Amino acid sequence: MAIERIGNFIDGAWVPPTTGEYAPNVNPADTNDVLAEAPLSGSDDAKAAFDAAERAFPSWRATPPPKRARYIARAFTILTSRLDEVARAMCREEGKVLSEAKGEVQKGLNLLEFYAGEGFRLHGKTLPSEMARTLTYTLREPVGPVALVSPWNFPFAIPVWKSAPALVAGCPVVLKPAQLTPLSAKLMADAYQEAGLPRGVFNLVYGRGSTVGRLLVDDERARAVSFTGSNEIGIDIYTRAARRGARVTCEMGGKNPVVVLDDADLDLAVEGIVAGAFGSTGQRCTATSRLIVTGGIHDALVERLKSRARALKVGNGLEPGVEMGPAVDQVQLAQDLAAIEQAQGDGAKLETGGRRLTEGALQRGFFVEPTVFTQVTPGSALAQEEVFGPVLAVLKAGSFDEALALANNVRYGLASSIYTRSANAAMRFIEGSEVGMVHVNQATVGGEAQLPFGGVKKTGVGEKEMAEEGLNFFTHLKTVFFDYTGSRRETNIY
Ligand code: NAP
Ligand code: MG
Repeated sequence: MAIERIGNFIDGAWVPPTTGEYAPNVNPADTNDVLAEAPLSGSDDAKAAFDAAERAFPSWRATPPPKRARYIARAFTILTSRLDEVARAMCREEGKVLSEAKGEVQKGLNLLEFYAGEGFRLHGKTLPSEMARTLTYTLREPVGPVALVSPWNFPFAIPVWKSAPALVAGCPVVLKPAQLTPLSAKLMADAYQEAGLPRGVFNLVYGRGSTVGRLLVDDERARAVSFTGSNEIGIDIYTRAARRGARVTCEMGGKNPVVVLDDADLDLAVEGIVAGAFGSTGQRCTATSRLIVTGGIHDALVERLKSRARALKVGNGLEPGVEMGPAVDQVQLAQDLAAIEQAQGDGAKLETGGRRLTEGALQRGFFVEPTVFTQVTPGSALAQEEVFGPVLAVLKAGSFDEALALANNVRYGLASSIYTRSANAAMRFIEGSEVGMVHVNQATVGGEAQLPFGGVKKTGVGEKEMAEEGLNFFTHLKTVFFDYTGSRRETNIY
């Protein structure tokens, strides 16, 4: 059977790339399974997409926000009927297990539902003026065409959470999804097309980040850039876009801690840590990668985690019963194994895992064991650098204060969690944790459409995503002064 070739979606139509080049979309659980081929686009494709977005802007901006949002509502209905299809495609191209893929599609649907509603609420403020009979208020206006760049680890939800608010705000979109996961974004684009979005309002260009991604981000017409991915690339994009005065938001890496105090509910903590560290093969920006435990509960918790990690069923996420899928590709697998090797070299104690899995069908995928290290030193690479794999670093703390200091002792600041029965300790942790999102007695992972999502320190720059903030990012405020005396001659001295 011939392999399906995906096109770019530009100016309302699926078109082949001008380069004629494609890359295969491979299942990381089984490299014999090639899902499709996606374009390796070039500069002409990037330019054509922004030409279309630029042409579409005047009439899209003139379309009332509730009407713009109705297209998103239609896409929600279309995709609701395809939840299974999208989840299966995602499972095959990214490797996450089917239940997680379904969860991600559901999250994307929640975001579509939320932003469809926001079209009715795109509001400024009416504020009093110093001057009598003067109406002063703010209007929210779209910034213009925008460039969106997304990673492979949430190949459906992130394209949704960037594009839906941009569209509702009135900004034509050019999206470049990660080359490793083209199909999930295509299924979203199909829904936008079927929802009847006017041509040029939504454009999708595939290709390498280093070539076409860079061109899109650098296009003078991209008035805002929204990026999710690694720190190194995000900061580069931030710098370049700042130089030409574009608005930028970058959501980047994490090194998220869970603190467990002696008084914690052990069962609850084990569940949350296993889900946070090994769910999605550790390939979540909010994954739990550090566990900081006080002395009284340390050994019991480590024992429980070891046996849970050993019992996890690793394999192809489409198979029933499988609990953890593969690394997304050869490069990520090598990164996981290198981090494991370095941790051993740095003197950490390998409690379980640590090896690539190659038995039987697993040899055709990029599988690594769920891995736990104890005796990790705070300054070592495993305690400081994002692995983006199923590798948990356990650090021991002597007190709450030491645990909090260790939790904050990284350059990242995305999510954190504490397990304790003490309201006092929980409140002090909420106050002191240097993150964008803090959890109490639950895993570090997860987010909801209506709640702002994003990090501080080296994790995030710009506006929070999702929620109302995610919409506001794509707008600027226009301040209006309307003197309705019609005859006042003196000028406001302020
Ligand atoms: P990545 O390598 O930084 O890539 C992200 C996207 O940027 C991809 O589409 C990539 O294209 C593109 N890109 C690469 N170089 C570029 C350039 N010079 N100009 C413009 N675009 C460029 O990240 P990843 O490996 O896909 O994702 C993993 C990272 O994302 C982790 O660090 C994770 O923590 C982070 N993440 C953060 C959040 C958050 O909300 N904080 C959420 C999810 C993931 P190609 O790869 O297709 O070539
Ligand atoms: Mg990458």
